[in-house]
Amino acid sequence: MNCLQCQSKITQYIEDKLSENEIQEFIRHVKECNNCYEELDIYYTLLIGMKYLDNDENIPTDFRLQLQERLEQDEAMIQRRKKIKTSFLLIGLCTVVGILSLSGVLYNKHIYNLKQQELLNNQGTYYFKDNIAPFLFLPAGQSYKIKEQETAEADYFSAVDQYIEESEALEERDENHGQDTSH
Ligand SMILES: [Zn+2]
Repeated sequence: MNCLQCQSKITQYIEDKLSENEIQEFIRHVKECNNCYEELDIYYTLLIGMKYLDNDENIPTDFRLQLQERLEQDEAMIQRRKKIKTSFLLIGLCTVVGILSLSGVLYNKHIYNLKQQELLNNQGTYYFKDNIAPFLFLPAGQSYKIKEQETAEADYFSAVDQYIEESEALEERDENHGQDTSH
């Protein structure tokens, strides 16, 4: 705000017709500019004095002090409102961050479930389920029937054993057969 703008707002300030931002800029200027402060002082004495006259009251002599108090009060009021605005802004910001985090978590969970479903669809009977880490691959819907899994494994290993035994028997027979023909 320059001197011209400031002085054009003096009467509006005295009659309390400025917006909060205008009051703030106005006070900032008159505190640093002696010319404008003096101008304000003159108008203040004149306008307020006339009000006292209109109301048939005794005109006080401490206009200068009154004006200083008014400026301080207005400044304090603006600072208070700014603090309140900042608090509301912070609360709003925290709420938004909270909501975003929560929806992020929910979204991740949703994606995880979708992926699980997709894996289940693609892989048919067996699919990956990471919350039962020791038994990574289990038949769908039979996650906790560990006994069945153990039985299946036992069957598999006994089949392998049987295969090895049979192979060895065959080898032995072949060796014997070879010895027979050499005679
Ligand atoms: Zn000025």
